[in-house]
Amino acid sequence: MSDDRNNRGDHGDRGDRGDRDFGGRGGNRRNRGRKRVCSFCVDKVTEIDYKDTVKLRKYITERGKILPRRISGNCAKHQRCLTEAIKRARIIALLPYTNE
Ligand SMILES: [Zn+2]
Repeated sequence: MSDDRNNRGDHGDRGDRGDRDFGGRGGNRRNRGRKRVCSFCVDKVTEIDYKDTVKLRKYITERGKILPRRISGNCAKHQRCLTEAIKRARIIALLPYTNE
C-alpha cells in the first residue's frame, strides 16, 4: 500500500513539472515560419483582373466585405488594386455588396 502511494506521488511530481514547462513555452510563442508576403507579389501580378471572381472571393469575407490588409497580408499596392477590382466586380454584379 505504501508502495502504491509512493508511486502516485512520483507521478504527481512529474505532472507538475511538465505543466510548468509547457506554460513557459506557451508564453514564448511567436509567429514563426509565417512570412507576411503578398500573394500577388509572389505571382508577380501587376494587374488584378476584376473578372477573376474565383481569386477575388478569397479576399472577401462571407458577408461580402473586403478583407483588411492585416488579414490578407497583401502589400499596399496590391491591396489597392484588389479593392478597385472588387468594387468593379460589385458594380457589374460579379460579387455581392453584402451577403445577407
Ligand atoms: Zn503585392
